[in-house]
Amino acid sequence: MAAQIIDGKAFSARIRDKVATHVARLKDEHGITPGLAVVLVGEDPASQVYVRNKGKQTVEAGMNSIEHKLAADTSEETLLALVDKLNNDEQVHGILVQLPLPKHLDEDLVINSIDPAKDVDGFHISNVGLLGTGQKSMVPCTPLGCLMMLRDHHGNLSGLDAVVIGRSNIVGKPMAQLLLGDSCTVTIAHSRTKDLPDVVRRADIVVAAVGRPEMVPGDWIKPGATVIDVGINRIEAPEKGEGKSRLVGDCHFESCAEVAGAITPVPGGVGPMTIACLLANTVTACCRANGLAEPDGLTA
Ligand code: NAD
Repeated sequence: MAAQIIDGKAFSARIRDKVATHVARLKDEHGITPGLAVVLVGEDPASQVYVRNKGKQTVEAGMNSIEHKLAADTSEETLLALVDKLNNDEQVHGILVQLPLPKHLDEDLVINSIDPAKDVDGFHISNVGLLGTGQKSMVPCTPLGCLMMLRDHHGNLSGLDAVVIGRSNIVGKPMAQLLLGDSCTVTIAHSRTKDLPDVVRRADIVVAAVGRPEMVPGDWIKPGATVIDVGINRIEAPEKGEGKSRLVGDCHFESCAEVAGAITPVPGGVGPMTIACLLANTVTACCRANGLAEPDGLTA
């Protein structure tokens, strides 16, 4: 194996330490405790795990965690009223509505009802526009985590060829905007891209956000390229026993690692960065709300 492994677990621990240090300073010097409100509608098991982890890590960083768990049949009116209440609560600096929402609720409407200054997921249309025009915004957590790892590894990204595979609003598109902001030459590839292997072979940086297990093999990777694997896919693992499974990324790790200069593993790469960046966004939102200097290195 040639590639350097980019350790997202260790990196995210450093981000969380930085967040905790800044939270302690906000408390000591200004008497302010950043607060993150998470709203969960329904009982989706994966969402319940995410929300529990977010709450735990928020508290570990010294911040207030406010959880609102609503029944699956909650009306849009009730949910919008809660968001409005949180928008007007000075103790709440970040608001996250856990997605997906039950089908009867309009996700766009709900997300766009969050105060953009408190939109720590960075999905509000205003933040999307601000990011797209290179202005100060709240940046979506997963692409922000990828950018932090790339900056840490490369120092300067200017002029590098970057290919983002996937064009979702949550990962692919904001990732491409961030790379453009750092002066990469960016290609967004997707399900209709012609000759994807050829497109990927040109890249100094490959960010794979597709949701297809081990789709990108090593022979698509330019020697020495950096591979950021966002995908989280559960596949059967009969070698571990009957009915067992394991997590893999969108890239075939072993073959990509033979060729790449650096690569994020799955699990332990991008995944742990996402919640760390959510905490970072909450501190950033809190500093902005109070007219205080933002900590260095916690946003784009
Ligand atoms: P999505 O389904 O919204 O988007 C997938 C994208 O992949 C689409 O834009 C589609 O055009 C593209 N695509 C599909 N098939 C393709 C193909 N054959 N070739 C090229 N492109 C193709 O998914 P998403 O929400 O962006 O998530 C992508 C992956 O990232 C998933 O595995 C998800 O679990 C993972 N994810 C991880 C984190 C994390 O914290 N690490 C966060 C969000 C998403």
